[in-house]
Amino acid sequence: MKNRFLACILTLACAGLAAAQSKKFKPGMNFYSIEQDIQLGREAAAEFEKKLAIVNNQELLSYIRGIGDRLTASPAAGKFPYTWRIVNDKSINAFALPGGPMFVNTGLLLNADNEAQVAGVLAHEISHIVLRHGTNQMSKQQLLGGLGAGAGIFLGNSGSILGQLGQLGIGLGLQSVLLKYSRGAEKDSDLLGSQIMNDAGYNPVEMARFFEKLQSESGKRSGIEEWFSSHPNPGNRVRDVEREVTTLPRRTYSAGNPATLARAKQVAGGIPAAPKPAVPGQGTTLPAPATLRPSAQLRNHQAPSFSIDYPSNWDALGDAQRPDVIFAAKGGVVQDQQGPNVAYGTLVGFQPNKPGDLAPLTQELMDGFVRTVPGAKVTANPRPISVQGQNAMLTQMSAHSAFPNETEQIVVVTIPHGGGLYYFAFVAPQSEYRAAEPVFQQMLRSLRFR
Ligand SMILES: [Zn+2]
Repeated sequence: MKNRFLACILTLACAGLAAAQSKKFKPGMNFYSIEQDIQLGREAAAEFEKKLAIVNNQELLSYIRGIGDRLTASPAAGKFPYTWRIVNDKSINAFALPGGPMFVNTGLLLNADNEAQVAGVLAHEISHIVLRHGTNQMSKQQLLGGLGAGAGIFLGNSGSILGQLGQLGIGLGLQSVLLKYSRGAEKDSDLLGSQIMNDAGYNPVEMARFFEKLQSESGKRSGIEEWFSSHPNPGNRVRDVEREVTTLPRRTYSAGNPATLARAKQVAGGIPAAPKPAVPGQGTTLPAPATLRPSAQLRNHQAPSFSIDYPSNWDALGDAQRPDVIFAAKGGVVQDQQGPNVAYGTLVGFQPNKPGDLAPLTQELMDGFVRTVPGAKVTANPRPISVQGQNAMLTQMSAHSAFPNETEQIVVVTIPHGGGLYYFAFVAPQSEYRAAEPVFQQMLRSLRFR
């Protein structure tokens, strides 16, 4: 799968075509609708608001909103419901959630040389929203396999999109796939951001200059790495933006009133530092793992294509019409800095229509887990087993556990059936694995495909 447009702008053949007019950027492959972007962004923003030190200073807010409104008035910014929040954090960062919510750190204001540089970061973030890079990344990840594979299927239902993604292992946090962009996405956001800045009367080159200034200072001072871990440097930013500017309608640029930025810096600098954010596992009261231990008393779950028994003290989370389901005790699916994840339970997923042999499909799935689950690694390579007379594979993995001082043990059983690959991930913290394993085996023995 290739973004044809991107391939086009990277070749000289298209350069001549583009010279006379500014480029039109289009969002890439996406399983989600724009409405789902907006809903997901709203839900995610509410979660981030709980975790971040939001500044409710009207003077700062109206300064940022003023710049934001000027930028989003550009036709290139589309018609998203943009909202603005300021975060009390000295690191130089800003981020955008799908569909419109924007978060700006006080550190950005404190480190910008002029208002056009602040506007540049905002225009770049607005472009991530317009080009729908967050849900594009999620869609690509789903296509490649991994924990998110069922999410597109789940999303047909009403209810919380974020909750459903969380159940499928797509976490919410600054390291979330929603906020980690590719170099190609970065370049597109620089160029679309240039168009937006130009329309608003800011010099687009200030955006590229600011990013290059950050690049040259990264490593020398803290608070910059966060930006580049989400926004990898596509290289040659100033040159590319300068080239883009030659295709844009000529404007007289204003760098904004230096006194206004100076005042904003004074206000931002006067806010006392926020308390350090909670370390995962601390601050939230997790039940002791042993209290979540599965009962050997089982009850039956009927999915459309299979039935399986699960512990009577656990719940079945999911839609009865779908194969994807999570079995866990209340408290076994926890919220940490990466978002909700299954800390103690069983996750069943299905990847439809993936032709191929069991071994490579299993390998691909494991690669997806290793990419998306924090700290995940394969501890015993896939080996063939038989489940109800059917060929299957069993892989052992470990990962970071949401429980303090624990390692997560995961056994993944993959079974081809019904034009796709089913996976059963049995998850427990290390201290509980021995107690849970007989129940996991009982669950697997009870599995019946229709
Ligand atoms: Zn970016």
